[in-house]
Amino acid sequence: MKKAVILNQSQQLGNEWKGTYLITQCLYSVLLSTGLYNVKLVPCMRLDNQSSGDNTLLVSSVNLSNDYYGQLLHDFSKDDILQLDIHMDSFDGKAKGCSAFFYPGSKGSEFASLVYEKVGNILGKRTLESRGGLYTLKNSIARNVLVEFGFYDSQFQQVKDNLIPICNSTASAIKEYFKI
Ligand SMILES: [Zn+2]
Repeated sequence: MKKAVILNQSQQLGNEWKGTYLITQCLYSVLLSTGLYNVKLVPCMRLDNQSSGDNTLLVSSVNLSNDYYGQLLHDFSKDDILQLDIHMDSFDGKAKGCSAFFYPGSKGSEFASLVYEKVGNILGKRTLESRGGLYTLKNSIARNVLVEFGFYDSQFQQVKDNLIPICNSTASAIKEYFKI
């Protein structure tokens, strides 16, 4: 029985899409190549000259991921669907590390712990906690986890150099989460 994964390159203030685009595309390929998942990719809707310094596309990316979730519910139970909100923020040029955030009380905490441990071993560990106020966590219907894959302004080169291990670690966290 296949599982389903929604990859949402969350179009949010501070989230550097030029960084997350790489991770999202690579992770998409890695997940598809396993043959274990139906993977829905919420496309990046930012234009090349558009900064990440606004939230105008946030609502559309969440709405689209909710549309995908609705489609997936025809074939999958809600426990068999996981959404990843993919982030790589800019902050102060120094901050480093992987973070994973889940909605309070959600079983997403189980996946958050797994991905935090595995990707944190590559990029460093920063924060693992519940966040009730994050728009994407709050408004996405699917069980979802927001992962910060390090920081764009201090770790983008490191992410590029470790792209395959990062995506393989994330895929392995997904596999463990689904117990397959
Ligand atoms: Zn972020």
